[in-house]
Amino acid sequence: MEIEYQAPASLKETVALLAEKGERTCLIAGGSDLLVWLYQGLLEADVVVDVQRIPELSVLQFSPTDGLTIGAAVPWCRVCEHPQVAAFYPCLSLVARLIRSIPVKGRATLGSNLCTTPASSDAIPALIALEATCNIAGPQGQRAVPVEQLWAMPGQTTLGRGEMLVSVHLPVPRPHSGAWYIPFYPGDETDMIYVRVAASLALNDDDGEILAARVVLGAAAPTPLLLNTVSAVLVGQAPSEPVLDTAAALARVATWPTKDAHGNAVQRAQVAGLLTRRALCGALLQAKREIQPALHQDPGGLTVSTKESRYRFEGNGVQ
Ligand SMILES: Cc1cc2nc3c(=O)[nH]c(=O)nc-3n(C[C@H](O)[C@H](O)[C@H](O)COP(=O)(O)OP(=O)(O)OC[C@H]3O[C@@H](n4cnc5c(N)ncnc54)[C@H](O)[C@@H]3O)c2cc1C
Repeated sequence: MEIEYQAPASLKETVALLAEKGERTCLIAGGSDLLVWLYQGLLEADVVVDVQRIPELSVLQFSPTDGLTIGAAVPWCRVCEHPQVAAFYPCLSLVARLIRSIPVKGRATLGSNLCTTPASSDAIPALIALEATCNIAGPQGQRAVPVEQLWAMPGQTTLGRGEMLVSVHLPVPRPHSGAWYIPFYPGDETDMIYVRVAASLALNDDDGEILAARVVLGAAAPTPLLLNTVSAVLVGQAPSEPVLDTAAALARVATWPTKDAHGNAVQRAQVAGLLTRRALCGALLQAKREIQPALHQDPGGLTVSTKESRYRFEGNGVQ
């Protein structure tokens, strides 16, 4: 079956094409997912619309007053190499470096990652922790939604008919703030990540009290979980061992009690608690500027190299 290929040069033209061509029209950015789905017959399309020529979707720019804008067609390698992403959003820079396949890093985009893989994405927990918003364009014009509101259910976004993701925007980091991301691989580097946690904190300059906090669990439920319960116990407190213990306990009970090939519900809950504590420690150290974030550096002293497994299950425990 032949598929029509279109490569419009403007956003307006693309939105018009989506409206004109109807439901069996697919956007394509890097193609690392879509081409596989089409080839394997998992998806059928009459028209494929390439978004790589649209200027708004190729933007990657930082402004100290406005923050960071990442166009939906920007590949991971550009995020990875961007000096201001590394300087101002080290947590996101870390995520980009963790994409393990080099060909995928060169083609696949952060925007499509948001539109396709809510449960297994590395980017989504970090973006939610960093309070990112999605800029969306469609027949009714443009709108912005927080990243955590992009999914209706696993694999299904809240994008309306004819709508598309234009870019993701991250606000300027607050003063005395930090963020960290920790994935968990149950086995070697070929394993799927089992649970991952992103955390962000902003501290009061005077007394170190927590002014804002976000903890997000990925792959712990069908969609990413922003733990408002954890934010509620952290905000207004000075960071302390008991406060971190409470946050970890809340993360443990937030995971879905499901069992899969990677482990059981008890293990998943335990990992979520452990990583929540460590991600918060990482965010805290950054907020206090006690660590200069770098790849393969885990604030808890554990490597995040993709070559080694970080933790291992022993019965129902984690080592
Ligand atoms: C070998 C391999 C390793 C991977 N490793 C990781 C990893 O370590 N961590 C991780 O998080 N992810 C990983 N991924 C997933 C990957 O990052 C995402 O699937 C990727 O970002 C897809 O990008 P793409 O541009 O190639 O998507 P495409 O194939 O171009 O598009 C995917 C979907 O997004 C839709 N889409 C594209 N652009 C838009 C838009 N602007 N608006 C709305 N919908 C749009 C398309 O219509 C399609 O449905 C891996 C994937 C592969 C194949």
